[in-house]
Amino acid sequence: MTEAEVIDVMRRYLEGRFPKKCGVCDRTYANLKDYLLRTTHVGKPQSYDVEMGVFRPRKPFGTMSLANCACGNTLVMDSSGMELATLWRLMGWLTGEMWRRRETAPVILEDLRRAIDEATLNDPVAR
Ligand SMILES: [Zn+2]
Repeated sequence: MTEAEVIDVMRRYLEGRFPKKCGVCDRTYANLKDYLLRTTHVGKPQSYDVEMGVFRPRKPFGTMSLANCACGNTLVMDSSGMELATLWRLMGWLTGEMWRRRETAPVILEDLRRAIDEATLNDPVAR
């Protein structure tokens, strides 16, 4: 997979998780762009499977990215419900990047998140 393909697959997957509601203040985020505009990322994304050295997990613990709602509650975007074949393809890309760049998964995932954010925020079609 190229990075452009990864961004594409991830954006489509993430958009499918909306609308998303904060369980504390009841704010509803209509779509990914709305979410990115009104929340603040917390830390770097984490892949618990990669942290444990598992790159093709049969029962994935998942990859997640945290953000703070305006009310202060922490919201989670994760890979739960993603098809295993898709997750493995994405993890294959991640592993390749870790090897190529000699960086840890969180660093690469943070760069990927930044690229997804930019693509989403700059997309005139995204609502
Ligand atoms: Zn909230």
